[in-house]
Amino acid sequence: SEGVVAIVGRANVGKSTIFNRIVGERVSIVEDTPGVTRDRIYAHGSWLTRDFRIIDTGGIELEKSDMTASIKMQAEIAIEEADVIVFVVNGREGVTPEDSMVARILQKSKKPVILAVNKIDDNKYKDNIYDFYALGIGDPIPVSGVHGIGIGDVLDEVIRLL
Ligand code: GDP
Ligand code: MG
Repeated sequence: SEGVVAIVGRANVGKSTIFNRIVGERVSIVEDTPGVTRDRIYAHGSWLTRDFRIIDTGGIELEKSDMTASIKMQAEIAIEEADVIVFVVNGREGVTPEDSMVARILQKSKKPVILAVNKIDDNKYKDNIYDFYALGIGDPIPVSGVHGIGIGDVLDEVIRLL
């Protein structure tokens, strides 16, 4: 059966933007304010010869709860449903406490995790990725969801780990 890839990370880091890039169409709604993706969160993706299913966990929300509870639940769903997890962080903001919390949850799961450092739109931001080694997830991959930079590198890792 097809492997499952889940995208996780705190609000506004660019999960839906990356998801849409991978899927090749605008399936998830990209929001300018931190919030929810109310559109479809499951889609089909492919890279080279591999097909997979992909989930934008940012679209799964608890009715009445704070961001911390939502993000924890999203990480748990990713761990339960996915074979490979793409953990997205914001390369312009550095490591936040929420990033560290997600990292700890993912680490405990022993699922393969790819760390995508988003919003590296320009080479001048490339050195920002080194801060994210502190998350203990492995080598950070610089990406720009908006410009489509580095998405192929992430997908190479995805299909290697699927
Ligand atoms: P999500 O909440 O994690 O799903 O984030 P979204 O995909 O909705 O994006 C949140 C905001 O970040 C939107 O304004 C996007 O246009 C912006 N964004 C996403 N990816 C990038 C990127 O690579 N570079 C820049 N500069 N902005 C981005
Ligand atoms: Mg979203």
